[in-house]
Amino acid sequence: MRRRKARGIARDTLKFILEASRSSIPNEFAGLLQTDGDVITEVLILPGTESSRMSALVRLYMLPNMQVVGSVHSHPSANIRPSDQDLIFFSRAGDYNIIVGPPFNEESWACYDILGNMRELPILDIEFKDDDFDEDL
Ligand SMILES: [Zn+2]
Repeated sequence: MRRRKARGIARDTLKFILEASRSSIPNEFAGLLQTDGDVITEVLILPGTESSRMSALVRLYMLPNMQVVGSVHSHPSANIRPSDQDLIFFSRAGDYNIIVGPPFNEESWACYDILGNMRELPILDIEFKDDDFDEDL
């Protein structure tokens, strides 16, 4: 799989992640991050337990045309540092790994690279492409 780059995450996608994480409590929310161009716009939801996450990941990578740049999961506690398990997961998922924690707002998350170092991931206000939209110039 090619290493892909992302210049940021769409604000609506981050909002979806925060909302899904909040409503998953007391369980964990987990997914893979997919891009449209170089912006993270999609979340592919994975089963929520630590042990099932890795096997689901392996199965998903057998699918063709997967444009995965990393992962996202929630921590029910306020500690959003990656665990040892998380670091193993990151090493397979990619270079952008988001962990969100309570209170699940735009300040309560962090992004880590493939080695678990915190990295910046800008929130972008982008317009989603509308296939039905005809541009008349
Ligand atoms: Zn974790």
